[in-house]
Amino acid sequence: MENIKTDEAGALASLQKKDTAIAALSAQAAAVPGRIKALEAALMSRKAALLAGREALATLQLRKKDAELKIAEADEAVRKHQRELNMVKDNDAFKALLSEIEGDKAAKDGLETEVLGLLDEMDKAAAREKELAAEFAAEEAKEKAEAAAVAEEGRALAAKLDEARAAREKAAAAISPALMETYEALRASRAGVAVAAVSEAGGRMSCGGCHMALTPQKALDVTKPGTLVVCPDCRRLMYHEKTLFGK
Ligand SMILES: [Zn+2]
Repeated sequence: MENIKTDEAGALASLQKKDTAIAALSAQAAAVPGRIKALEAALMSRKAALLAGREALATLQLRKKDAELKIAEADEAVRKHQRELNMVKDNDAFKALLSEIEGDKAAKDGLETEVLGLLDEMDKAAAREKELAAEFAAEEAKEKAEAAAVAEEGRALAAKLDEARAAREKAAAAISPALMETYEALRASRAGVAVAAVSEAGGRMSCGGCHMALTPQKALDVTKPGTLVVCPDCRRLMYHEKTLFGK
């Protein structure tokens, strides 16, 4: 394809810059809801940790209550067997009751040791729960502030996008319809980039879109004022930044 000689080369390259900037802004704006969701999810997982901590403490409290109930039962059994001791005449029955009482007392000792252990665990669980609650409160305040900042960023991006789109439409309207048609068709099929500045490295020029090296003739053509050179590889319109914009 032939080079495109046009006095609208600079305007078209500028339009591409606007469209590229709009695409970047759109991507940033589109990421805002996900960023807010991620902040909320992080807070929810902290809340889950706090609830698990509370649950652990409640379980220990129940186990302690249960052990205390069993201690009361053991006490009651001891008292019952002692009353029975006063009534039996038979030596074997007497011995059997004594051994029951020993058993009840041993069970009670075991339960009391268990309660002491549970009290110790409850202290630790209560401290952990307090720690988790403080962590959650701090994180909640932080998350709310961050989410508010991200939401504000989203609003600023939306305003910037509106402004950029309006400026883009104005710039596009000033370019001839035929050139715009070529531009839009290329943009649609080339990932949003229809017009690409050539990049220069080590004295060689390459297409800014697909990175193919320019032939010496194309490299010469692209530095002629008002010239867009068609990339033989990706078909994008290439321009030379310094030639078009003087920098
Ligand atoms: Zn190319």
